[in-house]
Amino acid sequence: MAQLAIHGGTPVRTAPYPGWPVFDETEVQRVTEVLRSGAWWYGENVARFEEEYAAFQGARYGVTCTNGTAALEIALQACRVSQGDEVIVPPYTFIATASAVVRTGGTPVFADIELETANLDIEDVEAKLTDRTKAVLPVHFAGLPVDMDAYNALGREKGLAIIEDACHSWGTQWKGKGAGALGQCGAFSFQMSKNITAGEGGIMLTDDEGIADAARSVTNCGRCKSGGWYEHTLIGTNLRMTEIQAAILRVQLTRLEEQTIRREENARRLDARVRGIPGIRIIDWVDPRITRRSYHMYSFRFTAEEWPGVSRDRFVAAMQAEGVPVGAGYPYPLYKNPVFQRPELGRDYSDVSCPNAERMCQEACWIMHPALLGSPEDTDDIARAMEKVRDSAQALAE
Ligand SMILES: *Cc1c(COP(=O)(O)O)cnc(C)c1O
Repeated sequence: MAQLAIHGGTPVRTAPYPGWPVFDETEVQRVTEVLRSGAWWYGENVARFEEEYAAFQGARYGVTCTNGTAALEIALQACRVSQGDEVIVPPYTFIATASAVVRTGGTPVFADIELETANLDIEDVEAKLTDRTKAVLPVHFAGLPVDMDAYNALGREKGLAIIEDACHSWGTQWKGKGAGALGQCGAFSFQMSKNITAGEGGIMLTDDEGIADAARSVTNCGRCKSGGWYEHTLIGTNLRMTEIQAAILRVQLTRLEEQTIRREENARRLDARVRGIPGIRIIDWVDPRITRRSYHMYSFRFTAEEWPGVSRDRFVAAMQAEGVPVGAGYPYPLYKNPVFQRPELGRDYSDVSCPNAERMCQEACWIMHPALLGSPEDTDDIARAMEKVRDSAQALAE
């Protein structure tokens, strides 16, 4: 049995996985053109990127903004979420999914996730509905879409807005249509860690002209389409994207489809190799309605029962020593964050319990998306490292 790298053995690999961001001279050229033109502000590149990205996801309208958090806030505001409204969110996600609700004046209500998919569990959503529920805000976690047919049916039946947190799902398609305008609207992030990036940036997509106009107005100081420059019809703010960001994103977008397909192929290859490893539970979800899926990360569960004496964090450290970039993900569900443990939010979250989300925080392992941009052999090294660590599980036990 080969000695584990964490014990001084030879690692499965020493070559690094692909880095991020991916860019070349084209970005340098486009940014230089914008700089030289002097037209740095809210013009041609922003307008064109909005059209191009909306078309890529199959949406009618795109409204860019400064980041994904802002995109969620304008989506909620455009759907008229305000004081007293409840919005159902998952607890296994980035803080913005819930903080955007609070900042819009609403109250986040946490429903549990499914262990099989890490996505919001619609049965628990139904259990959390009240007469104050205004919207549901599911995350397509890691890029795997929630069952949008079921969510839209629920939205129609109960008169709720379905707002997608699509901040992991650039390129994801449900029945051939991109994420983001499958419900009322959806929010995307272009922050540095995301699968298409300008360092920072965001966009809200929708098929609804009224929502698009409202979101635009919020991002652009409360101006409206037909009004004058110094005519402000609502209290908005300034969340505009710059021409430099949009120029970078337009180039990045030309690579997104190919990268999405490559990650998906490598993820399928990895699925096939590691599916049977005891104590490793992959997200093994097949639904023919998911016609393409983005991978913001390759997420799997480390189930400790099958690893006597080995903790998830010990496993992660052993994998890293073998040269594979694995991390542990969110340490606790959002409602256990200090901000939700304080009284000023006006709601007591101290007794919230979402057992699957809590378990996911204990068991999840993430391999972030750049590692899926390598060759099939790079992907096989991930599986080889898992197999090696598994074979030496006894030596790893503490
Ligand atoms: C990244 C992210 C956001 C927020 O995006 P920013 O651009 O960083 O503000 C929101 N939701 C999820 C699920 C994310 O991963």
